[in-house]
Amino acid sequence: MSQPEQPPIQPRVYTRDQHPISRAAISDNALKVLYRLRDAGFRSCLVGGGVRDLLLGREPKDFDVATDAHPDDVRRLFRNCRLIGRRFRLAHVMFGREVIEVATFRAPFDAETEEGNVELSDDGRILRDNCYGTIEQDAWRRDFTVNALYYDIADYSVLDFTHGVRDLHEGVLRLIGDEPEQRLREDPVRMLRAVRFAAKLGLRIAPEVDDVLHRHAGLMTSAAPARLFDEVLKLFHSGAAVTCLDELERFGLFEALFPQTAACFAEPERGPMLRAFLVEALKNTDLRIRDGLGVHPAFLYAALLWAPMQRELEARLEAEEEPVAAWQQAASVVLEEQSRRVTIPRRFALVVREIWELQDRLPRSKGGRAARLLTHPRFRAGYDFLCLRARAGQADPELCQWWTEFQESDEGRQQEMLRPAPGESTETRPRRRRRRKPRSAS
Ligand code: ATP
Ligand code: MG
Repeated sequence: MSQPEQPPIQPRVYTRDQHPISRAAISDNALKVLYRLRDAGFRSCLVGGGVRDLLLGREPKDFDVATDAHPDDVRRLFRNCRLIGRRFRLAHVMFGREVIEVATFRAPFDAETEEGNVELSDDGRILRDNCYGTIEQDAWRRDFTVNALYYDIADYSVLDFTHGVRDLHEGVLRLIGDEPEQRLREDPVRMLRAVRFAAKLGLRIAPEVDDVLHRHAGLMTSAAPARLFDEVLKLFHSGAAVTCLDELERFGLFEALFPQTAACFAEPERGPMLRAFLVEALKNTDLRIRDGLGVHPAFLYAALLWAPMQRELEARLEAEEEPVAAWQQAASVVLEEQSRRVTIPRRFALVVREIWELQDRLPRSKGGRAARLLTHPRFRAGYDFLCLRARAGQADPELCQWWTEFQESDEGRQQEMLRPAPGESTETRPRRRRRRKPRSAS
């Protein structure tokens, strides 16, 4: 393995008057870290999304710092510091909820001389990489040119080793180096990062990258499932979730990440309807992000896996499995199968199950159980999910309206709503006779 060709170049330097980044736009905590490193004699720069987003006139999500101080130096300088990561050893400087990530400049790896610090898998993935170097070397190790710009706190200039500023102006997302395939092979998660940055920032994926993504989407299956939970969340919580879905599908990446869901979407008859529900859910997620409302990881995964959950459930009900068991088993099968590609941490998987379970309970709880269901810890998520299903033509819109009104009504009105009209059953739709439901197992 070798690193991208590294021409011995001087960076293009944009002095303070040649770029729009002002310190007022950088978080106080990031500035504190930058200054303290500088004052201790180290080189320290803002790097990555912080610089990129400020140059685009957007508000950065977080601030990353790159320095020639080693992680242990960083720990000595900051009491509020934690060292994390095996694959990449990093320092996290904590300020309440804000975390400033401080990474030491890394060198290109040379498997022959740096064996102790770099570890590759048989198929070329970087498993461990803690080989420190200069800022120039660090720039060439990053993923996209627009992510390899440095804001140097020493003189407030922006340093560009990879033509990132040009690409930013041209609106192009380009992998660093001449061998995009190798860069994606080293770390297949970069494929998801490509889709996310392009969608979120409105950049065009460079043709040579587009080409590799099409041809090698299958590499995604070699990424560690444990790393993918967060990456998938970042994609769909980026504020451009609908575009991300389209792009993942275009490259064949969606199939690699969510094979069960992709198979359902490919069903000739029902596929489009099943997909329409996910699109509804993602549109809603985008709106919530835009409006600064909370989004829950479990809700997203519940939506992403709802199509295979339904398919599995139907098969079980058709085989006359007992309904309560059928719901529980279907959820277990789908979640377990999914964890081969993306690990869903248990605490989120439990909430996914609860949201699904409510899809069974909400339609048949119009009797005395309705008031109790309102206090269910996932009621709101389950109800939102039901309304999305209604919007996608998968559930009765009247049922959704009933619950909307019920939860907004005072007690008197609620009592009235629970009283069946003459001849009407308290249940919205005819149901199988059910035994008392045991507490759902996990
Ligand atoms: P955002 O924080 O807005 O999601 P970001 O570009 O800052 O975007 P981070 O995940 O915070 O992304 O990473 C910070 C920087 O570290 C990136 O800009 C990039 O330079 C580098 N980086 C992150 N992940 C990778 C990777 N998988 N391969 C190479 N470089 C990476
Ligand atoms: Mg960042």
